[in-house]
Amino acid sequence: MLKGFKNAAELDFTLEENKQKMEEAFRQVDAEKGAVYPLIIGGERIQTEDRITSISPADKGVLGYACTCSREMAEKAIVTANEAFKTWSMVPAEERIRCLKKLAMLIDENRFILDAWNVEESGKNWGEADGELCEQLDFINSYAMHMAELDKGLELVDTDEFNKCVYIPIGVGVALPPWNFPFSLFGNMVVSAVVTGNTIVCKPSSDTPIVAYKFVELCEKAGVPAGVVNYIPGRGSEIGDYLVEHPLTRFLNFTGSKAVGCRINEHAAKISDGQKWIKRVVAEMGGKNAIIVDSSANVKKAAQGIVNSAFTFQGQKCSACSRAIVMEDVYDELVDAVVECAKALKEDQGSGRSNAAMGPVINQGAYDSITNYIEIGRKEGTVVYGGNYSDEKGYFIEPTVIRDIKRDARIANEEIFGPVLAVIKVSSFDEALDIANQTEYGLTGSVYSEDRDNIRKAKIGFHVGNLYFNRKSTAAVVLQHPFGGFNMSGTDAKTGTSDYLTNFLNLKSISEDLTD
Ligand code: NAP
Repeated sequence: MLKGFKNAAELDFTLEENKQKMEEAFRQVDAEKGAVYPLIIGGERIQTEDRITSISPADKGVLGYACTCSREMAEKAIVTANEAFKTWSMVPAEERIRCLKKLAMLIDENRFILDAWNVEESGKNWGEADGELCEQLDFINSYAMHMAELDKGLELVDTDEFNKCVYIPIGVGVALPPWNFPFSLFGNMVVSAVVTGNTIVCKPSSDTPIVAYKFVELCEKAGVPAGVVNYIPGRGSEIGDYLVEHPLTRFLNFTGSKAVGCRINEHAAKISDGQKWIKRVVAEMGGKNAIIVDSSANVKKAAQGIVNSAFTFQGQKCSACSRAIVMEDVYDELVDAVVECAKALKEDQGSGRSNAAMGPVINQGAYDSITNYIEIGRKEGTVVYGGNYSDEKGYFIEPTVIRDIKRDARIANEEIFGPVLAVIKVSSFDEALDIANQTEYGLTGSVYSEDRDNIRKAKIGFHVGNLYFNRKSTAAVVLQHPFGGFNMSGTDAKTGTSDYLTNFLNLKSISEDLTD
């Protein structure tokens, strides 16, 4: 079924040639800094007076200005996408897949400049940015493959009638992505809509509108017709409800916080005047991911896995580990090993552009919230590593390890979305599982254990969308670890799969009586 699908390979930045190409790409970014990015509606570039300033989280320098979409422009975008749907939904799947294949080629050709913009705008390092680009290529290639299969329709029982059951597109979608994977999560929302024959109105995150713009430009170059993908940056708090409640909106594809996701779900459920359908909502939300370490675990390996999961990209991956739940007999050893591993990261903190292991957090709001949690954590436990921060130049926070956290502590239950690890001591594996499952979330989880009974127990009892054993909780790979969360972590959409695409398709059963 996977028909030769192969995951894209990340660039090796230890090679001089790749380093030089990256430096060249940063020079190009510098030359483009300060540009104004218009809305793109039906292929038309529209400038507006009100603008969102895109800021580098590493030095607070201005990267560019995204024109901000008003309600009038949001209306125009949805009506335009609705018009485009009338023709795009009739275009054969083969043609839509061709556009995706071309898009993949263009992404590959523009790889370094896309990575460089991502580094500048999101604050991630080169490897993280290129990993994201690979994920996007994987999404494209997997959806192209899945759509070709889905296009055959369902296999039905043979009778005297002429029967078929086919997948058809559903309408206009609204894409509401987060800033932390500005290329692949934004791109995923776009290509899943395009390949299924739908049209999409994209409101990028206000923190990362430039990366999104670059992606939309490539869609145009790949031959996606005007109006199929529309780009309307704007503050979610200002135009979000309008887009969600619009009667022509057929589906919402959201990834972000629990609070916003729940709001979207609620508003999408209300039927607006003239609305003819129940809207579909894909909402992938937050997490409070745990890694359990039992007495049989390889402690050094577990510590490295915890540190990688908790602190890479500054703990701003939805899959990041923010709780280590550790059996008492290996607790002290594990905490010491975690601190040792974290030291290497702290010593390599700097800008994403300098390709440091750890960079800045995304913005002032995130910085204030995370550092507030560090102060809460100081009262709830003992900071054994890190705990310092500064927003003088950029938004920098040390990898912070807080031990002796009780299960009902705030930092053991609330999503922090930054480089802060709460370490919790338990006396049994059952207690560890109970604590792991106690939050309202259920996104990722990991267990370090050599004990088959515990592994079996966790496979059944650890309630998360993505469960790992003896490996970190981050770095899900398309079609290796289909991604999507349980409970308040989301609708379990499992990106990259054929199931994911069916969120944006209807099945139409058609029967013709052949008798006279
Ligand atoms: P966010 O604040 O919820 O924003 C996500 C998107 O929703 C942004 O485009 C935002 O626009 C928009 N938005 C805000 N208010 C809205 C409204 N009322 N109606 C419609 N859209 C609205 O989340 P974030 O800070 O960007 O991302 C971090 C969160 O995402 C974390 O909780 C993380 O766990 C989660 N996340 C989850 C996954 C997953 O797969 N489960 C993956 C990545 C991230 P503005 O930028 O203009 O506010």
